[in-house]
Amino acid sequence: MVWSGFCYMESTPRNNTEIRAGEMDQKQVAILQRWLKGVWDLLFPPSCFVCSAFLSDGARGICSDCLQDAPLIISPLCPVCGRGMSDSAVGDHLCGSCLRKKPPYSSVRGIVHYQEPVAPLLHSLKYQGDTSVLPALQAIVTLGLPETPSEEDRIIPVPLHIHRLRQRGFNQALLLAQLFFPERKNCILRDTLQRIRHTVPQTGLDGAARRKNMSKAFRVCDPGEVRGRKIILVDDVYTTGTTVSECSRVLLTAGAGEVSVLTLARVRE
Ligand SMILES: [Zn+2]
Ligand SMILES: [Zn+2]
Repeated sequence: MVWSGFCYMESTPRNNTEIRAGEMDQKQVAILQRWLKGVWDLLFPPSCFVCSAFLSDGARGICSDCLQDAPLIISPLCPVCGRGMSDSAVGDHLCGSCLRKKPPYSSVRGIVHYQEPVAPLLHSLKYQGDTSVLPALQAIVTLGLPETPSEEDRIIPVPLHIHRLRQRGFNQALLLAQLFFPERKNCILRDTLQRIRHTVPQTGLDGAARRKNMSKAFRVCDPGEVRGRKIILVDDVYTTGTTVSECSRVLLTAGAGEVSVLTLARVRE
């Protein structure tokens, strides 16, 4: 009824009593949109993506109970690789692995552990192309929002190979970079780092096989964009660090001053 009325206004000839949608002022359009949303929400009440409970006013994508369950990654951590440390009395301190060999990146931070409620949301995004989970992910990101980079810094999402990008239709790391730093969208470099080799999924590969899989997989197509700058490299999940290490190495070789890694989730070790 609503839509037929709306279409009628657009499709019938103009007379003195009709208002074309294109001529409605912004206030009228806003009222109409609110009204339509109210009817839509009445017919299809928004529900939590994780537990399906109906959402209270203001909640977007995820209910407050599920949001509370989001397993934030907190100190003590290794300040370089971001690994959780068990000795809470000492605070943040370098892990044995970073003491033995310093990684190419200056730091890695994950916001939550890779488990419910984040894991099924990310799975829906990546493997079912369901971008409607983004408001729920945004609510989770807000819990552990990282410091906003300066305007001189550059944000680079870990790229997909063009074949994977065509398959999926979007790069989830780019969507997350936009969620992390909505006020720094102009600092996001979408195409500067490119994945030039189609690699097999890292799942199931051991350390050496992962490194071989990622070898020569990336290139910086415009070194001038990264030269001397701090780069915030964004990915969805940190597993073993092989991918972000290789990206960092390539960026530093191209002249980046420093690479700091930020992921939404991190697999527990
Ligand atoms: Zn819920
Ligand atoms: Zn470490």
